[in-house]
Amino acid sequence: MHTSTPPYRIALACTVVSSCLAWLGTLQAAPRCMVPTGEYLPTQPPYTYVLDRRSPHGADYFDRYRTGCPTLIETGLLTPGHPYFGPMCDLAALRAGRPEKATEEFVRQYRENRTRAPEAIRRARAAGAKWVTTYICMMTTGGDPEKRTGFWRFYDNWDAFKPFHIPDRPPSDPENWQQRKVDGAPYIAYRRAHPPYSPMFRWTNCVNNPNWLVYQRWVTEEAARVGADGFFVDNAGTLRCYCRCCQTRFGEWLRSRYTAGELRELFDDDLSMSRGRDRDSDLRRAEVELFRQESIHRFLGKIREWGAAIRGRFFVFPNGLHRCGYHIATRFRDCDLAMHENSSREYGGNAGVLRKHVIAGLHVKHLNDHLLAFKYAAGTGARCRSNMFSYPGHPKTDLANLGANAKAYALGVAGPAAFGGGGCYAPTRNHAWLG
Ligand SMILES: [Zn+2]
Repeated sequence: MHTSTPPYRIALACTVVSSCLAWLGTLQAAPRCMVPTGEYLPTQPPYTYVLDRRSPHGADYFDRYRTGCPTLIETGLLTPGHPYFGPMCDLAALRAGRPEKATEEFVRQYRENRTRAPEAIRRARAAGAKWVTTYICMMTTGGDPEKRTGFWRFYDNWDAFKPFHIPDRPPSDPENWQQRKVDGAPYIAYRRAHPPYSPMFRWTNCVNNPNWLVYQRWVTEEAARVGADGFFVDNAGTLRCYCRCCQTRFGEWLRSRYTAGELRELFDDDLSMSRGRDRDSDLRRAEVELFRQESIHRFLGKIREWGAAIRGRFFVFPNGLHRCGYHIATRFRDCDLAMHENSSREYGGNAGVLRKHVIAGLHVKHLNDHLLAFKYAAGTGARCRSNMFSYPGHPKTDLANLGANAKAYALGVAGPAAFGGGGCYAPTRNHAWLG
């Protein structure tokens, strides 16, 4: 039987369609997401990681790994020169007031370090390690520009390292490589008179300064030449710089993102990173933040590129997720692994149930898990994986072990591994159960 559509249904359909069209007309393109998201990546095969920054040249270094080396091991002292002080510094002599070695002696030591590093790496591989990595810092040097010690002694004797593929010496003194505050004064992370650097000082270089990149490139290439598989890149979030290099690049950054009309309307044609105290719009501040993210991303990409040109592949593992896990998908998006150091919180990165002392005989329990930190990687589809820096030290009221025991060790490895990252433990103290 034929039935016609009742008029009220036609009217209802028209109303719905016209409402939808009207709503579509109000739609605008969604703004680009500040934290990129990608295709969900399922859990990857886990691997074990141990941060063990003792010298791998010590006879007993691998005793700890008699039953097997972790897949990823981070040793100390694999770069032929010290990453902070350069290859011409004897800190013990400086502290004791003794004269340091002659230039020729430092060069001989550098050559020896270079020669013995491949053997340490061979031993790590023989013990089962797949990746053997070591330490650099994104921004730190140590030295005294007045007394020309530490990094400055190396700079003054740069050409002594010509036999080791060092490029031409940057023309500008390392004092000019530093990050700068808005007023032009050096910006120094932590503090200038940082005790571990005494009697020298701590300095904070800028990743947008081409002179600093000359040094970082040489350090990276030298590490790759001796066989290191990659770097743990420390302080890979510390960029607070307003130096001239950053200002120039920031102008280029804005011009690449806005039309001339927008620059006039939104920035008054002023492309500086800051217009002075309390005069910066939220948009300018946001662009400065995004510019710094991309500066760090570009720097880490260069580390990979420089190392891979020699090794074929170079593992890049920055530190800098602390309290900002979303950076797994921003500045670290093309890295292999990124660390939540989590060292300043009360409970640290040591996984498990922690007991916090209250008064004699009383304590509270705290479940210290880091699932949210690990889920950032999977949630954003980041190729980079999260790692929690798990190590003894928290809570400090556990005086006997500082939170460390064999189960905490196992959890420290298992937690990140469950999310396809590198399970981490840092044996900063020699507990019997570690053997
Ligand atoms: Zn800068």
